[in-house]
Amino acid sequence: MFDIGVNLTSSQFVKDSDDVVLRAREAGVSGMLITGTSLRESERALALAQRYPGCWSTAGIHPHDASTWGEESAGQLSHLARAPQVVAIGECGLDFNRNFSTPQQQEQAFTGQLALAAETGLPVFMHCRDAHERFLQLLDPWLDKLSGAVLHCFTGTAQEARDCLDRGLYLGITGWVCDERRGLALRALLPMIPAQRLLLETDAPYLLPRDLQPKPASRRNEPLWLGHILRQVAAWRQEDAEWLEKITEENVRRVFGIAF
Ligand SMILES: [Zn+2]
Repeated sequence: MFDIGVNLTSSQFVKDSDDVVLRAREAGVSGMLITGTSLRESERALALAQRYPGCWSTAGIHPHDASTWGEESAGQLSHLARAPQVVAIGECGLDFNRNFSTPQQQEQAFTGQLALAAETGLPVFMHCRDAHERFLQLLDPWLDKLSGAVLHCFTGTAQEARDCLDRGLYLGITGWVCDERRGLALRALLPMIPAQRLLLETDAPYLLPRDLQPKPASRRNEPLWLGHILRQVAAWRQEDAEWLEKITEENVRRVFGIAF
């Protein structure tokens, strides 16, 4: 199993990241992609990826941090992206749900990172919340220049999924889909995603699956729970979990160009 979205640089993992990675391995997670969300976090993500075998990282600036995007950002990220452990540009995109950075700042940072992905030849690792139309408008001119494009933590509608799939995007599915209230719409559209475009992620420490039995004492999510998400997604798609595991691992190798 491969977890494409682990926020291992989160302060929630500072004290015990060794144990978190070990527990994940013991639970069958053979690889993970550590998310970079700002210049500093991308540096830390790379340092963690260099420290743990089977770990890779992204280099990018999250829409929440888009106000930090400046003239030097592309150069700084591109410098990080030279490390062999950095296999994607991002997390980047638009989040008009909370607007921690202004929409203008988000659009500028997103476009800058799409250009960087095109220039470096790395795939782009994207985030989109409440911004679907604008997201596509900004992404479309870059599509034929990108080696690959992943929309992580997809939680949109069936039409939005179709728009993304038509454009060749890979969709990352998190434990959001396990939520017995918020996750139902996503659960219903799971079968329309071709297995060859599906990626699995925990987005730890966020989005602890709500249907774990027994419920863990801590609300902190960990990559160790990826197997639960895989089994649930496979069941709702009426597919064999081992088969889906193999396919999603092949997807990881194809889009990120890594061997694990
Ligand atoms: Zn995200």
